[in-house]
Amino acid sequence: MELFNLAGKVALITGGNGGIGLAYAKGLVKAGAKVAIWGRNESKNKEALEVLSSMGGEVAAFVCDVTDTEDVDKAFDATMAHFKQVDICFANAGAGGPQGMLHQIDYKAWQGILDLNLNAVVHIYRKVIPQLLERKAPGKLIVTSSVAALLGMGFASGYATTKAAVGGLTRALAIELGRANIQVNAILPGYVETDMSVKTPQTFKDSVLRRSASGKFGTLEQMEGIAVFLASSASDFMTGQSIVLDGGHTINPI
Ligand code: NDP
Repeated sequence: MELFNLAGKVALITGGNGGIGLAYAKGLVKAGAKVAIWGRNESKNKEALEVLSSMGGEVAAFVCDVTDTEDVDKAFDATMAHFKQVDICFANAGAGGPQGMLHQIDYKAWQGILDLNLNAVVHIYRKVIPQLLERKAPGKLIVTSSVAALLGMGFASGYATTKAAVGGLTRALAIELGRANIQVNAILPGYVETDMSVKTPQTFKDSVLRRSASGKFGTLEQMEGIAVFLASSASDFMTGQSIVLDGGHTINPI
């Protein structure tokens, strides 16, 4: 459909080689975007590339640890050399971080999750924004936050803190970049089974199933549509928002 058409657009997805990032990539390829996926694991990159290419996508993969600023610089240069532009950026790479009481978790692990779930989002946005402004091109910056930004996620304070922090970043950048026709939004998924989320304590999974209006977890396929909407001109009047996609989990208090 024309409203959601991404032909001629280039999207960069960090953590695009698996889980939710790969689901976003599939949605974007179906809508006609060219897609660059970034991840640390070369074989996961290769497998994801095969899947996306078999769908007819013009795609490329780049090995990058997003917590390493030099790596980000190199991968961004390589992405630009390949595609010449980046119109849409999904800062999606992330992890759960340390589990336990704040005063007991390892401080290095705390800094590590800030580096991945917050600082890496900043690094990638700082690469994408200048070339959008230089080209006077419309743009879309989207971060994968989490319902953990809203819930009291005891024993996962690093995760809860970083996922809430990117909401603040989203609102600030929406104001900074709005006049340049760049929209900035956050997606807050509820529980979706992935390599990361399988490690979630069973008690949390049980409470998700109890509180979810559908009584079900989310699926990866259900992550595709929101990615296309936020990447396309259909969402041009939406910016600074944190969009919850959780099957009703967070609206149900019991
Ligand atoms: P996965 O573990 O399946 O995916 C994580 C992705 O991030 C992988 O592609 C991984 O690739 C990449 N990644 C991790 N660390 C780095 C790094 N240092 N540098 C570059 N890439 C990295 O988990 P999800 O798909 O679940 O997670 C994706 C996002 O969704 C995360 O931000 C997560 O917090 C968020 N989220 C997930 C929910 C869920 O229920 N699954 C719910 C709410 C939010 P590689 O290993 O090759 O580096």
